[in-house]
Amino acid sequence: MAHMLANHAGKCKNIHGHTYSMQVEIYRNDENVIHAPGSTDHGMVMEFYDLKTIIQELIVEPLDHAFVFWSESTDPLEHGIAALLKEHQRKLVSIDYRPTAENLAADFYHRINHRLKSEGVSVRELILWESPTSFARIREE
Ligand SMILES: [Zn+2]
Repeated sequence: MAHMLANHAGKCKNIHGHTYSMQVEIYRNDENVIHAPGSTDHGMVMEFYDLKTIIQELIVEPLDHAFVFWSESTDPLEHGIAALLKEHQRKLVSIDYRPTAENLAADFYHRINHRLKSEGVSVRELILWESPTSFARIREE
């Protein structure tokens, strides 16, 4: 995913990309389901396949190889790049926050948590790595 950080004093003001990794820790809201022998979720919080599918649809597919663009950026270059990409029908995703690892992690946390509600599952912690050594972590309050 490509982004740029408007008003950043260093290199991150330039358009660049990351191969993000994400770790999501979940728990079942009603643990009785896990312990009920007749339950389809007996002995598990959630089917791994279902969790991966949800994250793939919610996060990975929309953002993979996209330029993530801050719609309220004060940097005219960011708007110019977005306009050019749009004109050429390239993958562009508009968000309403500066695309730092911290903000992305918080957004992903809320999106996944909201989606998992219907499954009776909540997110306890989400870690988003921007590189093998740099990450942002969001924990349930
Ligand atoms: Zn970056």
